[in-house]
Amino acid sequence: MQTAGVSKVIIESVVVEQMREKVEMILSELVSGSLSGQTVLVKPNMVGPSTPDFGHTTHPELVRAVVRSCLDRGAKVQVGDNPGGMKSSSRRVAEVTGIMEASEGCFRSISDQVVKRTGTETGFTFIISKLVLEADFVINMPKFKTHVMTLCSGAIKNLFGYVAGTNKAKLHVEAPDPADFARALCDIFQMRPPDLNIMDALTVIEGNGPCHTGQQREVGKLLASTDALALDCVKARMMGVNPASAPITREGIHRKLGNWEDERIEIRGEVEPIPDFLLPATYRPKAPDRDEANKVVQESIPEIMLTRTTVKPVWNQDNCILCEECVESCPAEALTIVPEFVMTDACISCYCCVELCPEGAMEVPDVDVFQVY
Ligand code: SF4
Ligand code: SF4
Repeated sequence: MQTAGVSKVIIESVVVEQMREKVEMILSELVSGSLSGQTVLVKPNMVGPSTPDFGHTTHPELVRAVVRSCLDRGAKVQVGDNPGGMKSSSRRVAEVTGIMEASEGCFRSISDQVVKRTGTETGFTFIISKLVLEADFVINMPKFKTHVMTLCSGAIKNLFGYVAGTNKAKLHVEAPDPADFARALCDIFQMRPPDLNIMDALTVIEGNGPCHTGQQREVGKLLASTDALALDCVKARMMGVNPASAPITREGIHRKLGNWEDERIEIRGEVEPIPDFLLPATYRPKAPDRDEANKVVQESIPEIMLTRTTVKPVWNQDNCILCEECVESCPAEALTIVPEFVMTDACISCYCCVELCPEGAMEVPDVDVFQVY
């Protein structure tokens, strides 16, 4: 929630070998109370079973550093997330991403026990992992990524992983529009705001993120704050995006979930925009260059959000391995792959298939969002 004072955001350059040292510095600077005897839930981004070199999931060495620093402080540590797809268990995702090994025996399947909650603004039913609500201290560890549906994927978006199993798909159907989905995400945030957010910006995803259809960019930074909204606003500015326009930060600002005004965010480190940062095609008008495109999109995101849902993913048969992850994860049951590809009119353009396809075979067409509508 918005605090009376100023929110500090730390931006630190880092290489893997320095991870523990940087995490120690972040914890010392941002955690005021003792963690001794506290139950600490570490919540990485475990969107799917990708190896760490893809940059889709929180770097295992960052998870390891956080786990060790918390254990050294006498905390009872649990590491867990609810992955995006329907075909892979959280244990399998944790193993492939290296997070299981990095958790040093602290990994938990957090979907085993759940509780039902009603969103304050949406009225939706949310099935939330009980361990999240019971934890004394939550450390949120998002990735710095773009997202074809929500433009930005950061600290508030990462909390969609509080939601267990098939309830995720139901929420996509209930909130197919990015503005509604942002409202659902902010409801989730309000159920258990994280106590600390450490964002992995070592390898970030630009373009058609958050996964295989996006492009990797080496940035080599950690961003950290106790204020998730302030952190997401700083991250948006590094992407060249106005946080007051992007769906999730716009809703967070509307609800005053944290600080967003420049004068109420104290930044330690460099907050330079990443040069030529590429936004998703779903939010990118054709323009002479990326800076021009980003400038246009900043002023027009609300209009794009209202109409973007007519852009459907396309299937790249050459890359498809017929695994049917997309079929099982499609919230609208709009897809068939075998014996032949069919996408029905039930498609809600949620891009879950784009996000979860392990081969990048579900693609976002390179459309001019202004010419389409
Ligand atoms: S499009 Fe992707 S997720 Fe769907 S069947 Fe093909 S490879 Fe699997
Ligand atoms: S086909 Fe893809 S974009 Fe359409 S509803 Fe299904 S998962 Fe979402």
